[in-house]
Amino acid sequence: MISLYYNHLITHMKNRYGLKETIPTPIETIVTRWEDEPFSGGSYSYIPVGSSQTDIQTLAAPERSLTFAGEACSMEGHQCVHGAYMTGQDAAFEILSAITTQMNRDLVGSK
Ligand SMILES: Cc1cc2nc3c(=O)[nH]c(=O)nc-3n(C[C@H](O)[C@H](O)[C@H](O)COP(=O)(O)OP(=O)(O)OC[C@H]3O[C@@H](n4cnc5c(N)ncnc54)[C@H](O)[C@@H]3O)c2cc1C
Repeated sequence: MISLYYNHLITHMKNRYGLKETIPTPIETIVTRWEDEPFSGGSYSYIPVGSSQTDIQTLAAPERSLTFAGEACSMEGHQCVHGAYMTGQDAAFEILSAITTQMNRDLVGSK
């Protein structure tokens, strides 16, 4: 099945972009089946009429030690993969900072 998609993609790229050279076989391919996604059914957030970007900030605000990430938490990349990615990076940074701060406090406290 993967080779079917791959062949279709390569044919499309060659026709669309006029590629003449051989395109290397990918190491791995992933086909997303949004409709089979059990928890979301293939959905993403949207801002309905009457809402604002403030709602995104409210949604993204940490709750004590609980940090949130995902496209719905992103002001710049809301609804998109890059928004999910960037908020994931931010959340990881927040968590690392909190751990480092606590470790430093423990070190100072133990002296
Ligand atoms: C059909 C479609 C086409 C798209 N096309 C594009 C595009 O071309 N470009 C683009 O940038 N973006 C596109 N998007 C949007 C993009 O896919 C999303 O913005 C991105 O996947 C969001 O990532 P996320 O990590 O925030 O959430 P998700 O990728 O939705 O991840 C959330 C995860 O949490 C899991 N989950 C939910 N509830 C629970 C629970 N209670 N317990 C455990 N796990 C749970 C879900 O199963 C899911 O795996 C598209 C989306 C769809 C549906």
